[in-house]
Amino acid sequence: MLRQAIEILDLREENSRLYQLLDANQILSSSLDLNLVLDVLMQKARDVLSAAASSLMLLDVETDELYFHTIKGDKADEVLSIRLKIGEGIAGWVAQQGQSLLVADCQSDPRFSRKADDNSGFQTHTMMCAPLKVRGRIIGTVQVLNKENMQLFNEKDLAFFELLASQAAIAIENARLHEMATVDAMTGLYLKSYFKARLEDSYRRTQVANGQLSLLMSDIDFFKKVNDKYGHQGGDQALVELAQVIRDTVTRLDSDDIAGRYGGEEFCVLLPNSDATRALEVAELIRQNIESRPIQIGDQQAYITISIGIASFQDHRPWIHSAEDFVKLADEALYICKDRGRNCCALFTQKE
Ligand code: GH3
Ligand code: MG
Ligand code: MG
Repeated sequence: MLRQAIEILDLREENSRLYQLLDANQILSSSLDLNLVLDVLMQKARDVLSAAASSLMLLDVETDELYFHTIKGDKADEVLSIRLKIGEGIAGWVAQQGQSLLVADCQSDPRFSRKADDNSGFQTHTMMCAPLKVRGRIIGTVQVLNKENMQLFNEKDLAFFELLASQAAIAIENARLHEMATVDAMTGLYLKSYFKARLEDSYRRTQVANGQLSLLMSDIDFFKKVNDKYGHQGGDQALVELAQVIRDTVTRLDSDDIAGRYGGEEFCVLLPNSDATRALEVAELIRQNIESRPIQIGDQQAYITISIGIASFQDHRPWIHSAEDFVKLADEALYICKDRGRNCCALFTQKE
Protein backbone atom coordinates (compact mmCIF):
# COMPACT_ATOMS: atom_id res chain seq x y z
CA MET A 1 0.00 0.00 0.00
CA LEU A 2 2.66 2.44 1.14
CA ARG A 3 4.89 1.57 -1.82
CA GLN A 4 2.05 2.19 -4.23
CA ALA A 5 1.34 5.55 -2.64
CA ILE A 6 5.00 6.54 -2.97
CA GLU A 7 5.04 5.45 -6.60
CA ILE A 8 1.93 7.54 -7.33
CA LEU A 9 3.54 10.55 -5.66
CA ASP A 10 6.69 9.99 -7.73
CA LEU A 11 4.69 9.80 -10.94
CA ARG A 12 2.81 12.96 -10.05
CA GLU A 13 6.07 14.79 -9.46
CA GLU A 14 7.52 13.59 -12.73
CA ASN A 15 4.35 14.59 -14.52
CA SER A 16 4.50 18.07 -13.07
CA ARG A 17 8.15 18.39 -14.12
CA LEU A 18 7.29 17.37 -17.66
CA TYR A 19 4.65 20.08 -17.75
CA GLN A 20 7.26 22.57 -16.59
CA LEU A 21 9.49 21.46 -19.47
CA LEU A 22 6.68 21.81 -21.99
CA ASP A 23 5.96 25.25 -20.63
CA ALA A 24 9.62 26.23 -21.01
CA ASN A 25 9.56 24.87 -24.54
CA GLN A 26 6.59 27.06 -25.36
CA ILE A 27 8.46 30.17 -24.25
CA LEU A 28 11.53 29.05 -26.15
CA SER A 29 9.67 28.71 -29.42
CA SER A 30 7.63 31.88 -29.04
CA SER A 31 10.32 34.37 -28.01
CA LEU A 32 13.40 35.69 -29.76
CA ASP A 33 14.44 37.50 -26.61
CA LEU A 34 17.32 35.34 -25.41
CA ASN A 35 17.70 37.02 -22.03
CA LEU A 36 14.03 36.43 -21.27
CA VAL A 37 14.19 32.77 -22.32
CA LEU A 38 17.29 32.07 -20.21
CA ASP A 39 15.77 33.91 -17.29
CA VAL A 40 12.67 31.71 -17.43
CA LEU A 41 14.71 28.51 -17.80
CA MET A 42 16.95 29.30 -14.86
CA GLN A 43 14.01 30.28 -12.69
CA LYS A 44 12.34 26.97 -13.57
CA ALA A 45 15.50 25.07 -12.68
CA ARG A 46 15.55 26.76 -9.30
CA ASP A 47 11.83 26.28 -8.57
CA VAL A 48 11.35 22.73 -9.85
CA LEU A 49 14.53 21.40 -8.25
CA SER A 50 13.93 23.35 -5.00
CA ALA A 51 17.43 24.80 -5.26
CA ALA A 52 18.73 27.82 -3.37
CA ALA A 53 20.35 29.17 -6.55
CA SER A 54 20.71 28.46 -10.24
CA SER A 55 22.96 29.99 -12.85
CA LEU A 56 24.13 29.84 -16.43
CA MET A 57 27.71 30.48 -17.52
CA LEU A 58 28.92 31.04 -21.06
CA LEU A 59 32.34 30.25 -22.47
CA ASP A 60 34.41 33.21 -23.62
CA VAL A 61 36.39 31.58 -26.44
CA GLU A 62 38.96 34.40 -26.50
CA THR A 63 40.10 33.74 -22.93
CA ASP A 64 38.87 30.17 -22.39
CA GLU A 65 36.96 31.38 -19.34
CA LEU A 66 33.41 30.84 -18.15
CA TYR A 67 31.47 33.94 -17.12
CA PHE A 68 28.01 34.33 -15.59
CA HIS A 69 25.19 35.25 -17.93
CA THR A 70 22.14 34.53 -15.76
CA ILE A 71 21.94 34.02 -12.01
CA LYS A 72 18.87 33.26 -9.92
CA GLY A 73 19.58 33.50 -6.22
CA ASP A 74 20.04 35.96 -3.37
CA LYS A 75 23.76 36.53 -3.89
CA ALA A 76 23.71 37.16 -7.63
CA ASP A 77 25.47 40.55 -7.46
CA GLU A 78 28.38 39.21 -5.42
CA VAL A 79 29.32 36.50 -7.88
CA LEU A 80 28.43 38.12 -11.22
CA SER A 81 31.98 39.23 -12.02
CA ILE A 82 33.63 35.87 -11.27
CA ARG A 83 35.29 34.03 -14.13
CA LEU A 84 36.46 30.43 -14.11
CA LYS A 85 39.15 29.02 -16.36
CA ILE A 86 38.32 25.85 -18.24
CA GLY A 87 39.15 23.10 -15.75
CA GLU A 88 38.71 25.39 -12.74
CA GLY A 89 35.94 24.58 -10.26
CA ILE A 90 33.01 22.24 -10.87
CA ALA A 91 31.71 24.28 -13.83
CA GLY A 92 35.21 24.42 -15.32
CA TRP A 93 35.53 20.66 -14.94
CA VAL A 94 32.15 20.08 -16.61
CA ALA A 95 33.05 22.41 -19.48
CA GLN A 96 36.35 20.59 -19.93
CA GLN A 97 34.94 17.06 -19.73
CA GLY A 98 31.67 17.79 -21.53
CA GLN A 99 29.71 15.72 -19.05
CA SER A 100 27.28 16.49 -16.22
CA LEU A 101 28.22 16.19 -12.60
CA LEU A 102 26.23 15.62 -9.44
CA VAL A 103 28.25 16.56 -6.36
CA ALA A 104 26.91 15.50 -2.96
CA ASP A 105 29.32 17.60 -0.92
CA CYS A 106 31.21 20.38 -2.63
CA GLN A 107 33.25 21.29 0.43
CA SER A 108 35.08 17.97 0.31
CA ASP A 109 35.38 17.76 -3.47
CA PRO A 110 38.87 18.74 -4.69
CA ARG A 111 37.44 20.05 -7.98
CA PHE A 112 35.31 22.68 -6.19
CA SER A 113 36.46 26.32 -6.43
CA ARG A 114 35.86 28.52 -3.38
CA LYS A 115 35.80 31.76 -5.39
CA ALA A 116 32.02 32.23 -5.46
CA ASP A 117 31.47 31.16 -1.84
CA ASP A 118 34.26 33.46 -0.61
CA ASN A 119 32.79 36.43 -2.50
CA SER A 120 29.22 35.89 -1.40
CA GLY A 121 29.34 34.30 2.06
CA PHE A 122 27.11 31.55 0.63
CA GLN A 123 28.07 27.97 1.47
CA THR A 124 27.64 25.48 -1.33
CA HIS A 125 26.83 21.96 -0.19
CA THR A 126 25.29 19.95 -2.97
CA MET A 127 25.42 20.90 -6.62
CA MET A 128 24.46 19.76 -10.11
CA CYS A 129 26.21 21.06 -13.18
CA ALA A 130 25.49 20.25 -16.85
CA PRO A 131 27.30 21.34 -20.00
CA LEU A 132 25.62 23.47 -22.68
CA LYS A 133 26.39 21.73 -25.95
CA VAL A 134 25.70 22.82 -29.51
CA ARG A 135 26.53 20.15 -32.10
CA GLY A 136 29.07 18.61 -29.75
CA ARG A 137 30.74 21.94 -28.94
CA ILE A 138 30.70 23.22 -25.35
CA ILE A 139 29.38 26.77 -25.12
CA GLY A 140 28.84 27.00 -21.36
CA THR A 141 27.38 25.33 -18.29
CA VAL A 142 24.31 25.50 -16.06
CA GLN A 143 24.32 24.77 -12.37
CA VAL A 144 21.96 24.51 -9.40
CA LEU A 145 23.14 24.74 -5.81
CA ASN A 146 21.82 23.44 -2.46
CA LYS A 147 18.53 21.58 -2.47
CA GLU A 148 16.07 22.69 0.21
CA ASN A 149 16.15 21.14 3.69
CA MET A 150 19.73 19.96 3.15
CA GLN A 151 18.52 17.20 0.81
CA LEU A 152 20.80 15.86 -1.91
CA PHE A 153 20.05 16.17 -5.62
CA ASN A 154 19.36 12.76 -7.16
CA GLU A 155 19.60 11.09 -10.58
CA LYS A 156 16.03 12.07 -11.47
CA ASP A 157 16.85 15.69 -10.69
CA LEU A 158 19.88 15.41 -12.94
CA ALA A 159 17.88 13.97 -15.84
CA PHE A 160 15.42 16.87 -15.62
CA PHE A 161 18.25 19.39 -15.32
CA GLU A 162 19.99 17.98 -18.40
CA LEU A 163 16.78 18.48 -20.40
CA LEU A 164 16.63 22.11 -19.25
CA ALA A 165 20.30 22.50 -20.21
CA SER A 166 19.60 21.25 -23.72
CA GLN A 167 16.73 23.73 -24.03
CA ALA A 168 19.02 26.56 -22.91
CA ALA A 169 21.63 25.50 -25.49
CA ILE A 170 18.98 25.50 -28.24
CA ALA A 171 17.82 28.97 -27.22
CA ILE A 172 21.38 30.32 -27.33
CA GLU A 173 22.04 28.74 -30.72
CA ASN A 174 18.73 30.02 -32.13
CA ALA A 175 19.59 33.54 -31.02
CA ARG A 176 23.05 33.26 -32.60
CA LEU A 177 21.64 31.99 -35.91
CA HIS A 178 18.99 34.72 -35.93
CA GLU A 179 21.64 37.35 -35.35
CA MET A 180 23.84 35.95 -38.12
CA ALA A 181 20.90 36.03 -40.53
CA THR A 182 19.80 39.55 -39.67
CA VAL A 183 22.74 41.60 -38.41
CA ASP A 184 25.75 42.93 -40.31
CA ALA A 185 28.82 41.59 -38.49
CA MET A 186 30.98 44.68 -39.10
CA THR A 187 28.59 47.39 -37.94
CA GLY A 188 26.08 45.53 -35.77
CA LEU A 189 23.22 47.13 -37.73
CA TYR A 190 20.53 45.11 -39.49
CA LEU A 191 21.33 43.68 -42.91
CA LYS A 192 19.60 45.12 -45.95
CA SER A 193 17.38 42.03 -46.45
CA TYR A 194 16.08 42.13 -42.88
CA PHE A 195 15.72 45.91 -42.90
CA LYS A 196 13.68 45.73 -46.10
CA ALA A 197 11.38 43.11 -44.60
CA ARG A 198 10.79 45.36 -41.59
CA LEU A 199 10.21 48.32 -43.87
CA GLU A 200 7.61 46.36 -45.85
CA ASP A 201 5.84 45.35 -42.60
CA SER A 202 5.80 48.90 -41.28
CA TYR A 203 4.70 50.31 -44.62
CA ARG A 204 1.73 47.93 -44.82
CA ARG A 205 0.66 48.71 -41.27
CA THR A 206 1.01 52.45 -41.80
CA GLN A 207 -1.03 52.29 -44.97
CA VAL A 208 -3.87 50.37 -43.31
CA ALA A 209 -3.95 52.67 -40.28
CA ASN A 210 -3.26 55.79 -42.32
CA GLY A 211 -0.52 56.44 -39.77
CA GLN A 212 2.93 57.98 -39.74
CA LEU A 213 6.17 56.45 -40.98
CA SER A 214 9.47 58.05 -41.99
CA LEU A 215 12.68 56.77 -43.51
CA LEU A 216 16.18 58.25 -43.28
CA MET A 217 18.88 57.36 -45.79
CA SER A 218 22.40 58.49 -44.92
CA ASP A 219 25.54 58.51 -47.06
CA ILE A 220 29.06 59.50 -46.03
CA ASP A 221 30.37 62.63 -47.75
CA PHE A 222 33.47 62.14 -49.91
CA PHE A 223 34.03 58.70 -48.43
CA LYS A 224 36.38 57.77 -51.26
CA LYS A 225 38.76 60.42 -49.94
CA VAL A 226 38.59 58.88 -46.45
CA ASN A 227 39.58 55.52 -47.96
CA ASP A 228 42.34 57.19 -49.99
CA LYS A 229 43.76 59.00 -46.97
CA TYR A 230 43.40 56.37 -44.25
CA GLY A 231 43.25 53.15 -46.26
CA HIS A 232 40.31 50.76 -46.56
CA GLN A 233 40.71 49.67 -42.94
CA GLY A 234 40.57 53.28 -41.81
CA GLY A 235 37.39 53.64 -43.84
CA ASP A 236 35.97 50.56 -42.18
CA GLN A 237 36.72 52.09 -38.79
CA ALA A 238 34.76 55.20 -39.80
CA LEU A 239 31.81 52.96 -40.80
CA VAL A 240 31.88 51.20 -37.43
CA GLU A 241 31.89 54.54 -35.58
CA LEU A 242 29.08 55.94 -37.70
CA ALA A 243 26.99 52.84 -37.08
CA GLN A 244 27.63 53.26 -33.35
CA VAL A 245 26.50 56.91 -33.47
CA ILE A 246 23.34 55.96 -35.36
CA ARG A 247 22.54 53.10 -32.99
CA ASP A 248 23.22 55.18 -29.87
CA THR A 249 21.16 58.11 -31.11
CA VAL A 250 18.26 55.99 -32.25
CA THR A 251 18.04 53.70 -29.20
CA ARG A 252 18.31 56.66 -26.86
CA LEU A 253 15.33 58.30 -28.55
CA ASP A 254 12.93 55.42 -29.22
CA SER A 255 13.37 51.66 -29.08
CA ASP A 256 10.90 51.21 -31.98
CA ASP A 257 13.28 52.86 -34.44
CA ILE A 258 15.28 50.43 -36.59
CA ALA A 259 18.70 51.06 -38.13
CA GLY A 260 20.15 49.06 -41.00
CA ARG A 261 23.15 48.97 -43.33
CA TYR A 262 21.61 49.50 -46.74
CA GLY A 263 24.73 49.60 -48.87
CA GLY A 264 28.47 49.76 -48.28
CA GLU A 265 28.43 53.21 -46.69
CA GLU A 266 24.69 53.89 -46.79
CA PHE A 267 22.73 53.45 -43.59
CA CYS A 268 18.97 53.65 -43.18
CA VAL A 269 16.78 54.38 -40.18
CA LEU A 270 13.13 53.47 -40.10
CA LEU A 271 11.03 55.62 -37.79
CA PRO A 272 7.58 54.11 -37.15
CA ASN A 273 4.91 56.53 -35.93
CA SER A 274 7.13 59.50 -36.81
CA ASP A 275 6.13 62.44 -38.94
CA ALA A 276 8.51 64.51 -41.06
CA THR A 277 9.23 66.97 -38.25
CA ARG A 278 10.46 64.24 -35.90
CA ALA A 279 12.34 62.54 -38.74
CA LEU A 280 14.19 65.78 -39.48
CA GLU A 281 15.04 66.20 -35.78
CA VAL A 282 16.44 62.66 -35.52
CA ALA A 283 18.39 63.07 -38.76
CA GLU A 284 19.84 66.37 -37.64
CA LEU A 285 20.90 64.85 -34.32
CA ILE A 286 22.68 61.97 -36.03
CA ARG A 287 24.36 64.38 -38.48
CA GLN A 288 25.61 66.63 -35.66
CA ASN A 289 26.75 63.72 -33.49
CA ILE A 290 28.94 62.27 -36.24
CA GLU A 291 30.27 65.65 -37.35
CA SER A 292 31.60 66.39 -33.86
CA ARG A 293 32.98 62.93 -33.11
CA PRO A 294 36.68 62.32 -33.62
CA ILE A 295 37.39 58.91 -35.15
CA GLN A 296 40.59 57.26 -34.02
CA ILE A 297 42.32 55.59 -36.96
CA GLY A 298 45.67 54.23 -35.82
CA ASP A 299 47.43 57.22 -34.26
CA GLN A 300 45.43 59.72 -36.32
CA GLN A 301 42.13 61.42 -35.67
CA ALA A 302 39.68 61.74 -38.53
CA TYR A 303 36.36 63.50 -38.87
CA ILE A 304 33.60 62.58 -41.29
CA THR A 305 30.33 64.20 -42.26
CA ILE A 306 27.19 62.64 -43.66
CA SER A 307 24.18 63.69 -45.68
CA ILE A 308 20.71 62.38 -44.87
CA GLY A 309 17.69 62.20 -47.15
CA ILE A 310 14.22 61.78 -45.67
CA ALA A 311 10.90 60.44 -46.93
CA SER A 312 7.79 60.64 -44.79
CA PHE A 313 4.49 58.85 -45.46
CA GLN A 314 1.96 61.64 -44.90
CA ASP A 315 4.05 64.36 -46.56
CA HIS A 316 4.96 62.28 -49.58
CA ARG A 317 1.83 60.18 -50.09
CA PRO A 318 1.33 61.05 -53.76
CA TRP A 319 4.71 59.51 -54.60
CA ILE A 320 4.68 56.51 -52.25
CA HIS A 321 2.89 53.41 -53.52
CA SER A 322 5.21 50.76 -52.12
CA ALA A 323 7.98 50.23 -49.58
CA GLU A 324 10.45 50.56 -52.44
CA ASP A 325 9.11 54.01 -53.27
CA PHE A 326 10.01 55.02 -49.73
CA VAL A 327 13.64 54.08 -50.35
CA LYS A 328 13.62 55.76 -53.75
CA LEU A 329 12.34 59.03 -52.31
CA ALA A 330 14.79 59.05 -49.38
CA ASP A 331 17.55 58.39 -51.91
CA GLU A 332 16.42 61.30 -54.08
CA ALA A 333 16.34 63.52 -50.99
CA LEU A 334 19.93 62.43 -50.37
CA TYR A 335 20.92 63.83 -53.76
CA ILE A 336 19.31 67.14 -52.80
CA CYS A 337 21.72 67.21 -49.81
CA LYS A 338 24.70 66.43 -52.00
CA ASP A 339 23.65 69.21 -54.41
CA ARG A 340 23.37 71.65 -51.52
CA GLY A 341 27.00 71.00 -50.60
CA ARG A 342 26.71 67.93 -48.32
CA ASN A 343 26.77 67.66 -44.47
CA CYS A 344 23.06 68.43 -44.26
CA CYS A 345 19.63 66.80 -44.06
CA ALA A 346 16.74 67.24 -46.49
CA LEU A 347 13.16 66.13 -46.96
CA PHE A 348 12.19 64.85 -50.38
CA THR A 349 10.76 67.53 -52.64
CA GLN A 350 9.68 67.00 -56.20
CA LYS A 351 11.90 68.66 -58.78
CA GLU A 352 10.35 71.62 -60.57
P1 GH3 B 1 29.70 61.55 -52.01
O1 GH3 B 1 29.87 62.66 -51.07
O2 GH3 B 1 29.18 61.99 -53.33
O3 GH3 B 1 28.87 60.44 -51.45
O4 GH3 B 1 31.15 60.97 -52.30
P2 GH3 B 1 31.71 59.54 -51.98
O5 GH3 B 1 33.17 59.56 -52.22
O6 GH3 B 1 31.28 59.10 -50.64
O7 GH3 B 1 31.00 58.73 -53.11
P3 GH3 B 1 30.18 57.41 -52.98
O8 GH3 B 1 29.15 57.53 -51.93
O9 GH3 B 1 29.69 57.05 -54.35
O10 GH3 B 1 31.34 56.42 -52.58
C1 GH3 B 1 31.19 55.27 -51.94
C2 GH3 B 1 32.55 54.74 -51.58
O11 GH3 B 1 32.41 53.98 -50.39
C3 GH3 B 1 33.13 53.86 -52.61
C4 GH3 B 1 33.62 52.65 -51.87
O12 GH3 B 1 34.98 52.47 -52.07
C5 GH3 B 1 33.40 52.99 -50.41
N1 GH3 B 1 32.91 51.87 -49.66
C6 GH3 B 1 31.74 51.19 -49.85
N2 GH3 B 1 31.64 50.19 -48.93
C7 GH3 B 1 32.75 50.24 -48.16
C8 GH3 B 1 33.22 49.46 -47.05
O13 GH3 B 1 32.59 48.51 -46.58
N3 GH3 B 1 34.43 49.82 -46.51
C9 GH3 B 1 35.15 50.89 -46.98
N4 GH3 B 1 36.29 51.18 -46.37
N5 GH3 B 1 34.73 51.61 -48.03
C10 GH3 B 1 33.57 51.30 -48.63
MG1 MG C 1 27.31 56.17 -51.50
MG1 MG D 1 29.27 58.80 -50.09
